Amino acid sequence: MYAVLDRYATSSLLSQAENIYNPSMSRAHSLYRLQEIDLTLDKNNARIEEIQKRLKDSEKLKQAKGYQTQALETLRKTQVVLKSAEHAVESQRSKIEETEAILYRGTIKNPKELQDLQMEVEALKRYSDTLEDRLLDVMVEFEQVELDYETAQKNLATIEKAREAEHSELNIEQQNLIEENERLNVNREAALVSVSEEDDKLYKQIRQRQGGIAVAILEKDGTCSMCGLSPSASQQQLIRSGTQIEQCNQCRRILYSG
Ligand SMILES: [Zn+2]
Repeated sequence: MYAVLDRYATSSLLSQAENIYNPSMSRAHSLYRLQEIDLTLDKNNARIEEIQKRLKDSEKLKQAKGYQTQALETLRKTQVVLKSAEHAVESQRSKIEETEAILYRGTIKNPKELQDLQMEVEALKRYSDTLEDRLLDVMVEFEQVELDYETAQKNLATIEKAREAEHSELNIEQQNLIEENERLNVNREAALVSVSEEDDKLYKQIRQRQGGIAVAILEKDGTCSMCGLSPSASQQQLIRSGTQIEQCNQCRRILYSG
């Protein structure tokens, strides 16, 4: 769509402004000037709409925040599991120490009782190995979870920074467009002075029906620039004289001889 708009968009609004007041300008020419301003306004407004959509869009940021929150939750849960595994290993070590202390104190003389106690120490040690293995697994898992959290946090920071930079650029662009539109609207008011109410009405109707373009150019080869139809020789003459409004028989656009 922009390609079409660009073709008609104004390149030098200031030089046009001088022409706006030209009393000898034909009706089609006045409408063509008006259209150039309107097409630039259309293009700017479409871009402003796009900018506002981009400014509102926080999908990526929300997703990154979600990942970070989830990673933090996993980290906290794993930390609890890790603490409990560490505590289990420590408490098992104390149990072994206490039982061994009784064993080595030498107060128990009964061989059956001594044997039972030795077996208990061995059993406690076996379970201690299991607990230590478990702790090692949790430690490995915790390291991974910590890394995941760091990655999620870095990702969030990167997205936030990029978003900030993008927003700053978009806000500047939007402000420039708003200011340009203000200037264009002043020019538009001036351009409207040389357009009759009747012509303005027709222009608006065609613009609405024909994708925003109401005025087409009668090309050098005698064809309508928008639909390619070639008006009759007499109609072409009328268009070139610029005395009245002539519409293309096919696309119904107002033809301007340029
Ligand atoms: Zn046409």
